[in-house]
Amino acid sequence: MKLMCSWCLSEGRVAYLGERGSLSDTRVSHVICEGHLVQLRAEVQIANTMYPPRQENQPSPSRKSKGFEISMSPLH
Ligand SMILES: [Zn+2]
Repeated sequence: MKLMCSWCLSEGRVAYLGERGSLSDTRVSHVICEGHLVQLRAEVQIANTMYPPRQENQPSPSRKSKGFEISMSPLH
């Protein structure tokens, strides 16, 4: 299975990150590369600084999960 960074793909960059599982499995698995993960986390932090989550009556759902997590990655 080929691992491709979907962010790199959308930017027209080399998105190939390696293989996982059987080499005869030609399906493509979309993940995020380390560079884009860092970039994405930075963007989320900036967004949180500009628009801090409201902490009035409702408990913020983002407090449970620690920070931002990529849920689309099938690597785990
Ligand atoms: Zn990437």
